[in-house]
Amino acid sequence: MCGIIAYSGHREAYPVIIKGLKRLEYRGYDSAGVAIFNQDLQVYKKKGRVSDLDAYAQGQDLHGTVGIGHTRWATHGEPNDVNAHPHYSQSKNIVLIHNGIIENYASIKQDLLNKGYSFHSETDSEVLVNFIEDVQQNVGCSLVEAVRLALQKVVGAYAIVIISKDNPGQMIAARKGSPLVIGIGEREFFVASDATPIIEYTNEVVYLDDQELAVIEDGELHIKSLDSIEKTPYIHKLDLELDAIEKGGFEHFMLKEIFEQPKSVSDSMRGRINSTEGTLLLGGLIEYINRLVSADRIIILGCGTSWHAGLVAEYIFEELARVPVEVEYASEFRYRNPIIRENDVVIAISQSGETADTLAAIELAKSKGAIIFGVCNVVGASIPRVTHAGAYIHAGPEIGVASTKAFTGQLSILMMMALMIAHRKGTITESRYRKLLVELEQIPAKIEQCLALNAQTQYIAEVFKDVRNFLYLGRGYNFPVALEGALKLKEISYIHAEGYPAAEMKHGPIALIDEEMPVVFIAPHDSSYEKIVSNIQEVKARKGRVIAIVNEGDTVIKNLVDFSIEIPYTSEELTPLLSVIPLQLLAYHIAVMRGCDVDRPRNLAKSVTVE
Ligand code: GLU
Repeated sequence: MCGIIAYSGHREAYPVIIKGLKRLEYRGYDSAGVAIFNQDLQVYKKKGRVSDLDAYAQGQDLHGTVGIGHTRWATHGEPNDVNAHPHYSQSKNIVLIHNGIIENYASIKQDLLNKGYSFHSETDSEVLVNFIEDVQQNVGCSLVEAVRLALQKVVGAYAIVIISKDNPGQMIAARKGSPLVIGIGEREFFVASDATPIIEYTNEVVYLDDQELAVIEDGELHIKSLDSIEKTPYIHKLDLELDAIEKGGFEHFMLKEIFEQPKSVSDSMRGRINSTEGTLLLGGLIEYINRLVSADRIIILGCGTSWHAGLVAEYIFEELARVPVEVEYASEFRYRNPIIRENDVVIAISQSGETADTLAAIELAKSKGAIIFGVCNVVGASIPRVTHAGAYIHAGPEIGVASTKAFTGQLSILMMMALMIAHRKGTITESRYRKLLVELEQIPAKIEQCLALNAQTQYIAEVFKDVRNFLYLGRGYNFPVALEGALKLKEISYIHAEGYPAAEMKHGPIALIDEEMPVVFIAPHDSSYEKIVSNIQEVKARKGRVIAIVNEGDTVIKNLVDFSIEIPYTSEELTPLLSVIPLQLLAYHIAVMRGCDVDRPRNLAKSVTVE
């Protein structure tokens, strides 16, 4: 987590950095800081949002064409002014910003304390900047060499940018496990956690790889590995529009992103599906398609919402492609000793493509010989670069911390993957295959119909906004949607919410039900309909208040429940793409009514680049 932006060039650095930090704020927002070089290194930092930092910095001397900025998501030390980045070294010659965790910071810190160093903050990052200074003094080498030597001793994850008083024209950046991208303009350079603060200046970027160190000096960029092997920077052309990262008239990014779903799901299918011709092709998978088709087992890895998308995929892959699927939390998988056989394939799902646990789980699976497919949104991120093959969801930047359009984009891609495999394997009939292609193509228009339920969802939100707990229940394909609905609500409204398979209710959660407890049932007219009607009866018999997501024209459930929300019909396998929409809207409106900061929920950050 945390956002990094640094600038070196001919412009005033401060405005570039502050604007960049605002764009990166979704990555962390408990404190922020900048360092600008102007005769000396000036550091300004403040607890709170980037706007608090900006207000504090006004009136100070902010001139200078070289600077670094950071918006923090605290791991070591509480969010306060002192723990905010940048951090000075002891001599105040070097300043550093850091994203990640230095796992062996305690032993390094002890050594430095023994040598007489003192520390102002509780962060692991301040330890790193002093360690670099200490190495430089001991070895008597250049700062670049000191950074390289120090990083070889560091355990953990980092993306860092450093500037120094002795050599203010030089900017040093390095990464391992946390992302960094370098924008190359006309006689100017930008270094950032992602491309969003860069695109208004240049579309030419270099993605730094793990264990690489970049030096920007005299208008040139040099990259080498931590083993001192020179690398030729590979320049990518970004395909990202500025309005994609702005709110476009919506009150929050989350609402904008919910409403973008007809387009984002359509974009996920663009050029891939043609139902008239009966064709479906995810180009990125072709090279390894035989491995997918002949897989004995598919292991899906993810965290949070991506894990929920994986659970839906489990049902879909097993139903259509008749292949056993296991869905794993990446954070658990990586610390087990998982059994991976020759004919297993792994699918890793991550919106950002940077999720630390997923990346580590991929490395583990790779080391055991697995073929890995990535399903990611951010183009050029780490996961797409370390996997063998994959498919982008093309949802465009997702900035709201609560994932919405990435979830539906992931479902769309996973559905296409399942269909591709099933068709090649011959596990579904041609007519079912064709029907599902047609249905998939109609999903964006049906999401549009679901979005028309916004006002109704807002009304229901008003009724339930003050409750303390919520239960979400669904069966089959919609059980993971229940989990996702509960997650959306708790992450942005701070109401305790739990998702369960509806039939599991009797094994525990039913004890919670009374007239205070709202229960959201996802109950489309599918193969579990009769069963879920019984589950609703069981809740009503105990005076629970029920909100049901049903299909248009439903009468049975509508007559049983307190509130119903009608979504269009689609094939059973595809209902999660529709049923999740009112749940996203419900969570959004409840959070807004409770006065919560929807785009920046407390304690969370968008891409979880620390474990
Ligand atoms: N570990 C560092 C800290 O706690 C960096 C956290 C971040 O990535 O924002 O300050």
